[in-house]
Amino acid sequence: MFLKGKTALITGSTSGIGLACARTLAAEGANIMLNGFGDPAEIERIRKEVEQASGGKAGYSNADLTKPEAIEQLMARAADELGGVDILVNNAGMQHVAPIDQFPVEKWDLIVALNLSAAFHTTRLALPAMKARGWGRIINTASAHSLVASPNKAPYVAAKHGIAGLTKAVALETATSGVTVNCISPGYVWTPLVENQIPDTMVARSLTREQVMNDVLLAAQPTKKFVTVDQVAALALFLCRDEASAITGANLSMDGGWTAQ
Ligand code: NAD
Repeated sequence: MFLKGKTALITGSTSGIGLACARTLAAEGANIMLNGFGDPAEIERIRKEVEQASGGKAGYSNADLTKPEAIEQLMARAADELGGVDILVNNAGMQHVAPIDQFPVEKWDLIVALNLSAAFHTTRLALPAMKARGWGRIINTASAHSLVASPNKAPYVAAKHGIAGLTKAVALETATSGVTVNCISPGYVWTPLVENQIPDTMVARSLTREQVMNDVLLAAQPTKKFVTVDQVAALALFLCRDEASAITGANLSMDGGWTAQ
């Protein structure tokens, strides 16, 4: 339980990668601030489960991270209820797929606000207390799309390249302060979101389940295996260890070889 007494805020932690990070950090004793959307009863069940696993406290905020004022309230709540944020996992993200000349303007604004600007706001608000304590961890969920592009995902690719740059800049500013700042760049991760696309794609393209997984979803991923949420969470946990204190400003790929091509 090496995170006992520390508090982790994980944005977008009501499902997928963020939820796995919450469970993994809680299992090492961290207090957890959950954030994201979903069914209130299910979220309360998750909050209780995480709180029990940590032996500390767990809170939940439905703050909409596309709104800077909601982020300010979230950070204030984390300080009031859980004593501040020692570990910040900027994970909430969204996607929309369309060619650039047909991309809805409001979707561009939302994707950039959530996938990039939200991390600017949480980081600027969390850093003063981290620096004062002489310890902190900022872990940004980027993507293989922080390093390479795919068509029809312009704002996602731009925001993910942006968060990789933000990671480097903040790492340099905090290098002597005991705070490390890194991003994890997964390839395709097996989440309900991905799983649910398979039946429709099978019908739309007259393909088998195997063909959809290997030739459509995993076309760019040489291992032909999805990354798991637990693998991403295990790397996030490692970055919290003292052994990882020399890793800062890094963009850590976990993509089955995608960006090695
Ligand atoms: P997910 O859809 O399972 O989870 C997204 C989370 O963000 C949910 O908790 C959701 O409620 C929350 N969220 C959405 N909009 C929000 C908002 N406006 N304010 C606050 N919370 C909001 O997705 P995931 O696959 O777990 O993705 C998590 C992160 O990982 C994202 O940044 C995504 O870009 C990145 N990523 C995912 C994959 C993948 O294949 N799944 C690959 C690379 C990177």
